Amino acid sequence: PKEKQSILITGGAGFIGSNFIPFFLDKNPDYTVVNLDKLTYAGSLDNLKEVEAHPRYTFIHGDICDFDLTKNIFIQHNISGVINFAAESHVDNSISSPNEFVKTNIEGTFNLLEIARHFWTGSNNRFHQISTDEVYGSLGSEGYFTENSKYQPNSPYSATKASSDFLVRSYYHTYGMNVVTSNCSNNYGPKQHDEKLIPTIIRSAVNGNKIPIYGNGKNVRDWLFVKDHCEGINLIFHRGKVGETYLLGGNNEYDNLTIALKVCDILDVKLPKSNGNYKDQIKFVENRLGHDFRYAIDASKISNTLGWKAKQNFDTGLEKTVQWYLDKYQQA
Ligand code: NAD
Repeated sequence: PKEKQSILITGGAGFIGSNFIPFFLDKNPDYTVVNLDKLTYAGSLDNLKEVEAHPRYTFIHGDICDFDLTKNIFIQHNISGVINFAAESHVDNSISSPNEFVKTNIEGTFNLLEIARHFWTGSNNRFHQISTDEVYGSLGSEGYFTENSKYQPNSPYSATKASSDFLVRSYYHTYGMNVVTSNCSNNYGPKQHDEKLIPTIIRSAVNGNKIPIYGNGKNVRDWLFVKDHCEGINLIFHRGKVGETYLLGGNNEYDNLTIALKVCDILDVKLPKSNGNYKDQIKFVENRLGHDFRYAIDASKISNTLGWKAKQNFDTGLEKTVQWYLDKYQQA
């Protein structure tokens, strides 16, 4: 049998990481995975029950900013690759309290890069930075982000993600480190934290509360099913070209109001109300500060070079997502 490679996945107890780890273990029998997660309010080991006892999986509770801890993980586990999901990820929190964003997203990534540079083992190393399309700022009603778009971050969240992407880039250009970066549009699917848009719509609706929608509801996002993102990450980690960036999107552009209406329609069927429809609960609330108008992705680079394409139909994916939350609330 081939010798096993050990990779460090950071932030694996969060939304995307906890969808990715079971997927990665399944697709890559030659790899062991160490998951380093601080378990902030956004992370939960409940998300990882299915791999808890997996023989190629280890969980370590800790902070990517902790130099000694992270260095020891590299040495003890012979880490040869990193996929960095760990981040403060909620734009609204970055507006009210940006400090943690600077610490985890910038200092944490810097720490990982430094430790990788000095302490990873083997010759087959790779540092994969998981990033967002928000680093490119806002689009008008036309056009798409590509790998050549200018970085123009507008929120403290996107500014800290942009900074970490730049650090990763610099470790390639300066030290020749084997890095890749992927920038992805909004993900949706199971295990997303309750604070995010789609879970907020579902939770507010079923609790009989107002469904809050920012501004006039016209801000547009592109939505990618988390499983499609996981497939893209796995491809890029193994086959992405050194030093390059790949954009991933779902080709599902919807404004926030349309998303809320779609969720309400699904709920009207799954859990009919005795009086009225869920959409009656939608209320517009004061817009988010600096709210970017539109994000959209041209994913032709990854499609042409690595053969990746988002597969999940949006309406079916949204239905699956709503069902997942209904099951979760029923169990609680
Ligand atoms: P999340 O907030 O659900 O999870 C983040 C995880 O990181 C949590 O488990 C948390 O405990 C952990 N974490 C936070 N600070 C840490 C620290 N200092 N040390 C160790 N662990 C720490 O986020 P997510 O939605 O899963 O996003 C994962 C990554 O993907 C982030 O880098 C984010 O910027 C990026 N991204 C997310 C989306 C999206 O739509 N969710 C889109 C594009 C890119």
